[in-house]
Amino acid sequence: MSFRFLCKSAIVRQFYLSLWLPVKMAAESSSNGDDEGKKRVQKKPLHKTDLYIDVSDRQWPIVYSQDYNIGFLGLEKLHPFDAGKWGKVYAFLKEDGMLRDDTIIAPREAGEKDLSVIHTKRYLDSLKWSVNVATITEVPPVAFLPNFIVQRKVLKPFRIQTGGTILAAKLAIERGWAINIGGGFHHCSGDRGGGFCAYADISLAIKFLFDRDPKTKKAMIVDLDAHQGNGHERDFMEDDRVYTMDVYNRHIYPHDGFAKRGINRKVELMSWTEDAEYLEKVKMNLELSLGEFVPDIIVYNAGTDILDGDPLGALSISPQGIIERDQIVFEAARSRKIPILMVTSGGYQKRTARIIADSILNLKTHELIGCPEAESFQNEMKSSSGTGAAASPSNPTARY
Ligand SMILES: [Zn+2]
Repeated sequence: MSFRFLCKSAIVRQFYLSLWLPVKMAAESSSNGDDEGKKRVQKKPLHKTDLYIDVSDRQWPIVYSQDYNIGFLGLEKLHPFDAGKWGKVYAFLKEDGMLRDDTIIAPREAGEKDLSVIHTKRYLDSLKWSVNVATITEVPPVAFLPNFIVQRKVLKPFRIQTGGTILAAKLAIERGWAINIGGGFHHCSGDRGGGFCAYADISLAIKFLFDRDPKTKKAMIVDLDAHQGNGHERDFMEDDRVYTMDVYNRHIYPHDGFAKRGINRKVELMSWTEDAEYLEKVKMNLELSLGEFVPDIIVYNAGTDILDGDPLGALSISPQGIIERDQIVFEAARSRKIPILMVTSGGYQKRTARIIADSILNLKTHELIGCPEAESFQNEMKSSSGTGAAASPSNPTARY
């Protein structure tokens, strides 16, 4: 145990040093840089990314693509997850008239250079072996498929969702809030996947902002999925710019004691915790967290596997409890004018998609989210066509 642990620890540390040191040194150099003769350290040039696409004001800062959804050969049915939940959330919001195909934002796929901002080459190379992807996604037959099929049918949807989280983080800074209808792969870290999480989208989104947005210097992760968010905890363990609050069931996966060291405010729940206790703990600890750390962005991992009856989460939160929880988090962020990005993470029961959609509609009803330009455009379209349905997408970034 200790040898493996030490090796892993050393690798993680070395990885971080290589990642942060040039940036840290450059920052130190520039903070002292008004006088002569100081060492000038070149900051590593950033790669050109296609993920930060331009978005029109009449688009909601809500990110989704039909390519998020995984479905092939029936293999997805072998997993307890409803791998089409993201499409259902979007369909409900469209049905309700909140969104149209041309007023949401379709993200691009995160490429290898984008992923390398957090991921090691060793880890990305390991995904070229189907057996490794089978382990991460917990669908054993995936091991027997040729890797090009696994790449196209399993990993590509995750890479597009990852591109979605990275883009949505930028939108949150610009608009005050944003939602990625997918994402929230909080068990994946820079050098390890697991628990249905192949890419570390939360870590990537934060690191992209640190690198590319001079205004974003500190981030808070509020992880309210039923499971411990060991991926981002490992990634930011030694980075004081990131504060993590994690509320999870202590009796379920991943039991990652090492990663727990990366949590700033840890709230461990007993199985079958119910609404009243849960909501009180979330509210109180969020207030305490924001009392001791003021971030430039909150990344809210809004997993719905806390729902009563979830076979993996083993908690007993009602649909209304989930809606109230999301409202508490958005109220805390919006009342303080802290940009917030929400990702949907775990929770894959059949009724989950309806609850997520209802929660987003509730945030709109309480004016915690809104997009006046999109709403007035939609109203115009509705009155001119007599229906709420989109005629044809005019937005080049939407692919439907
Ligand atoms: Zn979970």
